[in-house]
Amino acid sequence: MSRLVVVSNRVPVPDTSKKAPAGGLAVALKAALDERGGIWMGWSGQSSGEDEPGELKINEDGKITYALTDLTDRDVDEYYHGFANRVLWPICHYRLDLADYGRKEMTGYFRVNRFFASRLQPLLKPDDIIWVHDYHLIPLASELRRMGVKNRIGFFLHIPLPPADVLFAMPVHEEILRNLAEYDLVGFQTDHDLANFAGALVREGLGEKLDDNTLSSFGRQFRAGHYPIGIETAAFAAYARRAVQNALVRKAAESLEGRELIIGVDRLDYSKGITQRLDAYEQFINANPHRQGNVSYLQVTPKSRSDVPEYEAMQRMVAEQAGRVNGALGTVDWVPIRYINRSVARPVLAGLYRIARVGLVTPLRDGMNLVAKEYVAAQNPEDPGVLILSRFAGAARELTGALLVNPYDVEGTAQAIEQALAMPLEERRNRWRQMMDYLLVNDVMHWCEDFLDDLINLSPGHPHSTGVTHEPIQ
Ligand code: UDP
Repeated sequence: MSRLVVVSNRVPVPDTSKKAPAGGLAVALKAALDERGGIWMGWSGQSSGEDEPGELKINEDGKITYALTDLTDRDVDEYYHGFANRVLWPICHYRLDLADYGRKEMTGYFRVNRFFASRLQPLLKPDDIIWVHDYHLIPLASELRRMGVKNRIGFFLHIPLPPADVLFAMPVHEEILRNLAEYDLVGFQTDHDLANFAGALVREGLGEKLDDNTLSSFGRQFRAGHYPIGIETAAFAAYARRAVQNALVRKAAESLEGRELIIGVDRLDYSKGITQRLDAYEQFINANPHRQGNVSYLQVTPKSRSDVPEYEAMQRMVAEQAGRVNGALGTVDWVPIRYINRSVARPVLAGLYRIARVGLVTPLRDGMNLVAKEYVAAQNPEDPGVLILSRFAGAARELTGALLVNPYDVEGTAQAIEQALAMPLEERRNRWRQMMDYLLVNDVMHWCEDFLDDLINLSPGHPHSTGVTHEPIQ
C-alpha cells in the first residue's frame, strides 16, 4: 500500500496536554495516515523573524511523521495574511470589494509554495500519494512537478470556487487555473464549485470538458469532482447526548428559564452574514411581539484573523450591533442577544446545539459550513430543533430538510425564524430524520475514503501530459 502524504497550511499535531478532541477533518486524515503510514506537512504557525526558517521540525507519532516548517515574517505577511487571506479568501467568497491585490503578496504566495515544495520533495518516495489541502497551497503541485516529482497528486479546495466573472477579477486568475490543472484530481465541495471551475476554463478558452469529471487544459488531462465534506456524525451525536450533563451546558439551560434558544456559531468572518442575521432577529422580534421575552438568541463568535484590518473592523461592528439591539429591545429581565466573542470547546458546543430549538446558519457564502451539520447531528431524535440554513452554504446542497433562506433577504430570514419556532413536532422529526440519515452515511470518513479512492484509482496511463512546462512566477 502506498504511503499518504498530506500537505495543509496548518497541521493538527496531536497535543496530549489538551483535553479537547480534534475536529472531524483532522480525525479523518489522521485515520487515513494511520492506515497507510505517511507524512503530514505544513506551516508550524511560527515565525522565524527576519531569519531563514531553519530546519523542518519532525515529530513522529506511530506511523505518521509530522513535518513542520517555520516561515519568516515576510513570508507570513505576503503569503498568509496577504495573498491567501486578502485576495483568495475574499474572491472565493464573492467579495471583490474586499480583495486587496498586490504584486508583492502574489509573488510571496508563489515563493512560499516553492519553498514548501523544496522542503517536501526530499521526503518523498516514488509511489507516495500526495493530497494537498486548500487555497493556501494551490501552486504546490506545479512546484513539485518542476522539481521532477511524478507522484500522483490530488487537491481539495475547502472554500467555494466562484464563477468566471468573479474569479477573473483576480489579476493572476489564469496562473491559479494553470496551477490547479497540474493536479491529477481536483476536488470541490459542491457540484456548483466544480461547474464554476470547468466554466472558467472553457470561458477563457483555456481548456475543455471531456466528460463530467475529465478536463483537458494547459496540455494536461486531469480529473475533477465534488466531494462534500462531512463531520464525524455518530461521534458528534454521542458528545451531544453526554453534553447535557456538562456543567456549563446545564447552567446555560437553567439560565434560559423556559425560553426557546436560538443559536448561531461562526468564526468572526464577513462571509458568515452575522450582521444580516442580527438584523433578521431584530425584525423577527419586532414582527412577533408574543416572542418578546420568550426567546433567547446565543451568538458564539470566536475572533479570527485579527491581523487583517477587515476582521478587526468587523469585530467592533458586530459588538456594537448586538449592543444596539439589546438596548432597543431588552427589558430589565430579558437580554435578547447573548453575544460571546470567545471560542467554545466542541463538547460544550454540542450540548448547546442540542438545547437550541433553532440553529441559525446564514452565511452569505460558505464552502460547506460544518456548524450546520453539527447542529443536526446534536439534536435529540425525540424532540429535534430546526435548522435554518443559507442557500449559499455548500451544506444547502445536501441538507434539504432545513428551512433554506436567502441571507440577504432579512425579512425572509425573520419569517423563517418564526416558522421554525412554530413548527409542529412531527414535521421537525421528519425533516431531522431525513438529514440525520444522510449525515450518518456521508460522514467525514466517507468523504476521505471517497476522495482517496478516486485519486488512487485514476485510470492507468493517467495523467496525460504533453510535456509543456511553465515558468515560475518570480
Ligand atoms: N467551532 C468551535 N468552537 C467555537 C466555534 C466553532 O469548536 O467556538 C468549530 C465548529 O464546531 C466547527 C468549526 O469550528 O467544527 C467551524 O467550521 P465551519 O465549516 O462551520 O466554518 P469555518 O470556520 O471553517 O469557516
